[in-house]
Amino acid sequence: MNLVLLGPPGAGKGTVAVRLAEDEGIPHISTGDIFRENIKEGTEIGQRVKQILDEGELVPDELTVELMKDRLAKPDAAKGYILDGFPRTIPQAESLEGFSRVDRVIRFVLNDEEVVRRLSGRRVHPDSGRVYHVEFNPPKVEGTDDETGEPLVTRSDDTVEGVKHRLEVYRDQTAPLVEFYEKRGTLVDIDAGASPDEVLENVKQVLR
Ligand code: ADP
Ligand code: AMP
Repeated sequence: MNLVLLGPPGAGKGTVAVRLAEDEGIPHISTGDIFRENIKEGTEIGQRVKQILDEGELVPDELTVELMKDRLAKPDAAKGYILDGFPRTIPQAESLEGFSRVDRVIRFVLNDEEVVRRLSGRRVHPDSGRVYHVEFNPPKVEGTDDETGEPLVTRSDDTVEGVKHRLEVYRDQTAPLVEFYEKRGTLVDIDAGASPDEVLENVKQVLR
């Protein structure tokens, strides 16, 4: 099953994707995680995209698509994958059709107010991609990852201004994908306002 998770930043895509990937034994592929990893490692790609991520803009389609084409060609993606944060523009979605098949697109539906609430308390464990929230999904020990005990961090783009801007970018450039995938008959909406367990269960329901 090749799955795409679509929806505004903060809707809970990563939270579900990490757990679903574990349960289903297929990789969770997040373009945002890949870019942040490159920034951390100081690679050439990292240097090219750092400012773009900090400003909440989108990385150019060409670079993003090239990266994903390589990633999806790896053997672990052959039996299925969960895409989180890609595609984010119509040209990316069109390119994806040239090198892979998308079976289902799950749209996370959540209002802006809730998005802001979620992103303002988000904490992440960079190495694993595990996501927490200071209030809604706190770690067992404050500020540390449940599995490794390593420190959690606040993403540099999770500022009030950053969140507002990324929501605008989502509306302008990513929301048109809803119609794109509706036309292909692959889109399914889920209520992302439920608890993490319920959202995961709803996604699994769609896959059955
Ligand atoms: P996305 O990947 O869509 O940007 P995340 O998975 O990073 O979103 O979640 C954003 C924030 O919301 C995180 O702090 C996460 O812990 C929290 N969160 C995720 N799902 C839920 C949920 N169902 N209910 C409440 N908070 C949630
Ligand atoms: P995310 O982790 O999905 O919230 O993404 C963080 C940031 O990475 C975004 O604000 C963009 O700057 C960049 N990014 C992630 N995925 C894409 C994509 N598919 N196309 C362009 N930029 C992306």
